[in-house]
Amino acid sequence: MAHDLHAHTNRSDGSHDPADLVQYAGHLGVDVLAITDHDTMAGVAEAADAGRAAGIRVVPGVELSIKVPHGSMHLLGYFAEPSPDPLLGMLAGLRATRILRAREMVDRLNGLGVTIDWNDLVDEASGAVLGRPHIAEALIRAGHVDTRKEAFDLYLAEGRPAYVRSEGLDVEDGVALVAESGGAPVLAHPSTLGLDAAHLSPFVGRLARAGLIGIEVHRPEHTPDQFAGYGALARTYGLIPSGGSDYHRPSSPHHPGATGDPPLPDDTVDRLLARALG
Ligand code: AMP
Ligand code: FE
Ligand code: FE
Ligand code: ZN
Repeated sequence: MAHDLHAHTNRSDGSHDPADLVQYAGHLGVDVLAITDHDTMAGVAEAADAGRAAGIRVVPGVELSIKVPHGSMHLLGYFAEPSPDPLLGMLAGLRATRILRAREMVDRLNGLGVTIDWNDLVDEASGAVLGRPHIAEALIRAGHVDTRKEAFDLYLAEGRPAYVRSEGLDVEDGVALVAESGGAPVLAHPSTLGLDAAHLSPFVGRLARAGLIGIEVHRPEHTPDQFAGYGALARTYGLIPSGGSDYHRPSSPHHPGATGDPPLPDDTVDRLLARALG
């Protein structure tokens, strides 16, 4: 059996209903699954129900957008309960800024003559937290690109003409919000910070002083060098090495339960929650 502490549903930019995701993960041998949607915990309750029926432990989680000057930072939070306070109240504001950001990206595309319809985008997202993948899908539907990758490469990736930097919580505020809500703050995919080793280490030190408890080390796309480097950072700053598949949809490169080599140790979530609650 496998533990996977990073997965998305269609409450943000994944494609599966929460219950469907849990069932799919179960079929792949996952017995502990954290639901970590972007800036929402709306999928947690439904996933937890499905988990109870299927004998899978569902861990309430979230993946928060954090404001950084370069690259992108996502902060995972893991909780013992499905509706942590005050975090839940703060998420509405984050989602509102995501709507404004998506609107600005659509305006930029339209300014480039790459027209997509805002109402089509919103309708297709059916209430999900809006992200760049939804805009990529709208670009495909409108016939401007053939694939999501092309949408990011041409328009949506950092440095491309329709890219708008993600707003979000300030670094220390994000870590503190998860901790104050009784959760374990964990740095997601450290590579997307875009920092070289000399700059990453002091930044992770700053996060650790703010209350960070874990860092993603076990991810399927990590090279042996990345695994070793992030593992060394975890030891340096007393962080718990965590990880998961970051599964979004059937076309994703890695599916639930894929957490790299070596895989995520089975005691990880209990260690994270024990530190958070201790
Ligand atoms: P956002 O949170 O709106 O900035 O969108 C980030 C999400 O877009 C990530 O969680 C991925 O799901 C997806 N993403 C980021 N970069 C790419 C890329 N180059 N190709 C395809 N999907 C991407
Ligand atoms: Fe995503
Ligand atoms: Fe992320
Ligand atoms: Zn993710």
